[in-house]
This record gives sequence, structure tokens and C-alpha cells, in this order.
Amino acid sequence: MSDHAVLHVKGRVLVGPDDVRDELWVVEGRISYDRPSGARDVRTVDGWALPGLVDAHCHVGLGAHGPVDTDVAEKQALTDREAGTLLIRDAGSPSDTRWIDDRDDLPKIIRAGRHIARTRRYIRGYAHEIEPDALVAYVGQEARRGDGWVKLVGDWIDRDLGDLSACWPREAIEAAIAEAHRLGARVTAHCFSEDSLTDLVESGIDCVEHATGLTEDLIPLFAERGVAIVPTLVNIATFPALADGGESKYPRWSAHMRRLHERRYDTVRNAHDAGIPVYVGTDAGGTLPHGLVAAEVAELVTAGIPPVEALAATTWAARAWLGRPGLEEGAAADLVVYDTDPRADVRVLAAPRRVVLGGRVVD
Ligand SMILES: [Zn+2]
Repeated sequence: MSDHAVLHVKGRVLVGPDDVRDELWVVEGRISYDRPSGARDVRTVDGWALPGLVDAHCHVGLGAHGPVDTDVAEKQALTDREAGTLLIRDAGSPSDTRWIDDRDDLPKIIRAGRHIARTRRYIRGYAHEIEPDALVAYVGQEARRGDGWVKLVGDWIDRDLGDLSACWPREAIEAAIAEAHRLGARVTAHCFSEDSLTDLVESGIDCVEHATGLTEDLIPLFAERGVAIVPTLVNIATFPALADGGESKYPRWSAHMRRLHERRYDTVRNAHDAGIPVYVGTDAGGTLPHGLVAAEVAELVTAGIPPVEALAATTWAARAWLGRPGLEEGAAADLVVYDTDPRADVRVLAAPRRVVLGGRVVD
């Protein structure tokens, strides 16, 4: 990182999808559209500027077997920063990552506390594993620990059934979501299957992660209530390998996972076309590496979302949804600069020319 009195970003500044300006200035870490008078020691960055990218489903401090050491968590956050991800919605972590808030050289994080799962119904070492009678209490606890979000595991394989199934009874879900809302927190849930979604959406959930089971019958209700989805297509891409691994023991589950994978692009495009807000999330930190944000944007385009809207899903729209500014006057200067227009080809996101965090160029 290097400090400069004033930073001048010029070329094309994408303040919004249709709000393109020629330049911005960064003074004391904040964005300004007025050239500062008497500016000296000006550093110039040229190119196409976007607000710092958002990874709306990412895990910091989480590894394949649960919590990881602080130095590993730091590397995860640095990898995201290099990819241009400057705002993370952490979708569940067993680690205390509050120390990151004191580090102005690391991405900003909005936490959902720790995953809340039904007993033996999630990856070992990740979640609070509880029974429905404790759900409200745990939701209250994680709502207080987090930054305005709570994360439930809505469905998972039921080994006796040999297939995915919903984890919580309807009454428990209703009470839990009401408690989170009472505390000012939004609720999201991990859902692969179809049968967990109805109770969650009818109980007022705010977002669904993965949402591979979102079929035509429920799309209108999601759209009407403005329930967002974060598909994490780079994670869904691993379903065939998971299905292969579980084939001999759980053939029904394997076949189900393959079906969900096969229709993944249709699911996402149909949801988007119906007006359901779709955001970029990579699911990095469990089994997937960090830094995949560009790949996920490309996947949304492959699914049929127009490039500008796929970009919005990791920039303007995602920031508004999370209540964080973009490139507005006075906002913290978190931005990424590219060689060419990312609206013309989102693949440019894979190679940022410059990352600027808190007004400082990350070297
Ligand atoms: Zn996840």
C-alpha cells in the first residue's frame, strides 16, 4: 500500500450503469468529483473504474474442516482484495474475524455470525448444530454477533432418507425469522432443494443462498416479496463431482444433485427474468478458494443475465442491497480500475489494473 496526498482516477468512471464520468479525485480517502485546489503529489490512475466488487457469499476464517488460524484468514481476505473484492458479505464463519475491522488494508466485511444448522445436518465443524426448540435463541445470539444478517442451513442430506430434505419445521422458521427481524437483522438460508423454500419464503426470509431448487411455482412469490438469491454458480459447478462421490451410498441424493446442476442456468435466468434480485457470491472459504468473483460474474452471463446486470450484481446493485455506498461523492474510495469497459466484456474483471482501497492504491 502506498499513501498519496491526492489520487486522480481518470478515463471512465462508472458511477452507475448509465452514469459515466471522466474522472474522480480521492482526498483523504474519500471520493470527490471536484478537483481539489492546490493539489500536489498527485498520483494518476487511468482506465475504467468500478466500485469495489462485492462478494455476497464468502467465508473468511473458514476452511475445509472448520475454523482456520488468523494468518490463513488474512490470506483469504488478501486474495479477495487482489481480485477486486472490497466488500464481503460473510455468509457464516465459526471464527471471530472482528480484528479485520481494524485493518484498513483489508476488504470490509458484513457478517452473518456462524451458520445455524440442524444436528448432524451440515459440514462438520462449521455450524452451531441444534434442534428446533433452540433455534430462536441461537438466531438471537448470532444476530447480535453479526452485522445485520443471520445464516440458516435450510436443507441438507437426510442420511436416513438418502436425499436432501428441509431441516426445520415451519413454526420454528417463522419464530426464528420474526426474532431476527425484531433485532434488525436480515435472514438468509442455504438451500439446495425445492422443498425447503416454501416455508422460508412464506415466513418472510430475506435471501436464499444457492437456490438451485427454485422452480417456476415459487418464482412469482420470491419476486413479489423481493427475496434475493445468491446462486454461487462456481460452487454449483462442483455438484457432479459431489454426486459421483456419494453415488454408491446415496443414489437418490446423487441423482437429485445432478438434476439441480443440469438446470442451474435455467433456474438463475428464470429467476432474474421474473424480477428476483440476483447477486454475485462465490462461496469461497469452505472448499472453494478465494478470489473467484470474476468467474462468478462470467457464470451469471453464461446463465443468460445481460452483462451490465451481472456487473450490477457485484457492484452498484449489490452495494445498495447491502446498504453500502458505491462511487458517490464523499464515499470511502474503494474502487477497481480495468483496462477496458467491463460492460462490453465482463471477463476483464479477472485482471484488475489497479485496486484502490480506502483511497490507497494497492501495489
Ligand atoms: Zn457458503
